[in-house]
Amino acid sequence: MAKEPKTLDILFHEHKIVATLPKMNEAAQSKQLKDAFIKHLAETKVHVERLEEVFKIIGKKPEQKTCEAMMGIVKEGSEIMEEYAGTPALDAGLLAAAQAVEHYEMSRYGTLRTWALELGMKDAAKLLQTTLDEEQATDIALTSIATKVVNQNAEKAA
Ligand code: FE
Ligand code: FE
Repeated sequence: MAKEPKTLDILFHEHKIVATLPKMNEAAQSKQLKDAFIKHLAETKVHVERLEEVFKIIGKKPEQKTCEAMMGIVKEGSEIMEEYAGTPALDAGLLAAAQAVEHYEMSRYGTLRTWALELGMKDAAKLLQTTLDEEQATDIALTSIATKVVNQNAEKAA
């Protein structure tokens, strides 16, 4: 299937996120943001397991294809941590980077879920949908934290 290579990079992506979230947690200033990163780290480890399960179902070796888009998003996050270290803009920057990650994941999992359904692979579709739901919930939680962080910073500035 020609469309496979572009989407199976999601396993590589999830491994990368498992390695990156602890750094983002360490860098974050607000307790809420730290908690959100820790919670999503635990979920992301399960995302890896679910993907390995999906690979089994579709009869593929769980290989990790390098994903340039993902590398770019992670690099942006690292740059934010360096550039904004010790400034009030750090959390806002981390939030922006994290939401870019979640949106990327949502697009990938949504597509994979739809293809699994098309192919009649209900079990795979269900696993992918469960992860998609968690990515979406994380994105919503991050938006809510972002609103609070922005409001707090605006108050401080006033
Ligand atoms: Fe994930
Ligand atoms: Fe995620």
